Amino acid sequence: MESYDLVIVGAGAAGLGAAQYGARANLKTLVIEEMAHGGQALLIDKLENYPGIPEPVDGYTWSETMRTQAVDFGAAVMSSSVASVRKDGERFVVETGDGPIAAKAVVIATGAKHRHLGAKGEEEFAGRGVSYCATCDGPFFRGKRMIVVGGGDSACDEAMFLSKLADKVVMVHRKDRFRAQKAVAARVLSNPKIEVRFETVLDEIKGTKAVEAAVLRNLRSGEVEEVPTSAVFVFVGSIPQVDALPPEVAKDDSGSIVTNDRMETSVPGLFAAGDVRATPFRQVVTAVSDGAIAAHCAAQYIDELEGKAYL
Ligand code: NAP
Repeated sequence: MESYDLVIVGAGAAGLGAAQYGARANLKTLVIEEMAHGGQALLIDKLENYPGIPEPVDGYTWSETMRTQAVDFGAAVMSSSVASVRKDGERFVVETGDGPIAAKAVVIATGAKHRHLGAKGEEEFAGRGVSYCATCDGPFFRGKRMIVVGGGDSACDEAMFLSKLADKVVMVHRKDRFRAQKAVAARVLSNPKIEVRFETVLDEIKGTKAVEAAVLRNLRSGEVEEVPTSAVFVFVGSIPQVDALPPEVAKDDSGSIVTNDRMETSVPGLFAAGDVRATPFRQVVTAVSDGAIAAHCAAQYIDELEGKAYL
């Protein structure tokens, strides 16, 4: 069985950060990604808050730079799916679509996937006007009206992006103010192309072949209105991707992996980094930082395992 010091599952910001620090610490490092490297960062139109990069950069360019840097430090990158990670004695066995791989330590950096709203018509019209990715699907609805659901950073960022394409963006949020960071929310509120409807929920998406309207309900007045729209973009949070993990790994109520400040999970030698773990702030910079800490502490764990720890 092929064997590595450190195997990282997921090549988003956290995984690539871990790969860079793992390889630079002279660990034989492998990062496995089933989709494209970059993860959620790939969808960023303009990354403007990554320290040290004052000129906004698109998510693809940033991710490619991170991957190149990790590879230059000696990390191997593999394209495959990971079905499971299990402990086998003192080592881990990572079951991939291309066979098992052994590792002394593992970093889980699998991120999170989009949560669905659960509204009537949402699944029926998925890919026909219902979307979870503004950069992917926004251009299809150029010049048309679009609805954005959600009140967090994702909803606000994506509404700003869509406002450059749309005739008008109607933003629907269930509370009376945004959850998003203040600066992000302020931009939405001052954008003349975005109409914000607070204390409002989307009950149903209607259409024939594709989305034609959405039924909105004001929670305060109870008033129901059918609003014509060509698209509904849903940004109501995310679900951590933990399917491949051993069941004994501790998680919080939302299903995120619980770690300590060394990114250690409840299983010795198994680390978690980025959006998959319970963390108060999910940013590209915090994901990279998680990855760096996880790789550094994984290197210490391996030294201890092999009786080489610096005491
Ligand atoms: P989030 O912060 O969890 O926000 C989800 C939003 O969806 C909340 O406003 C929530 O409403 C709403 N929501 C959840 N379930 C709903 C439902 N069933 N019906 C209607 N509304 C619902 O998720 P996110 O915006 O995807 O962000 C995830 C993480 O990534 C956050 O930590 C965020 O800071 C980070 N992020 C940062 C940036 C940036 O820095 N530019 C960009 C994107 C994401 P309530 O407010 O009522 O709970």
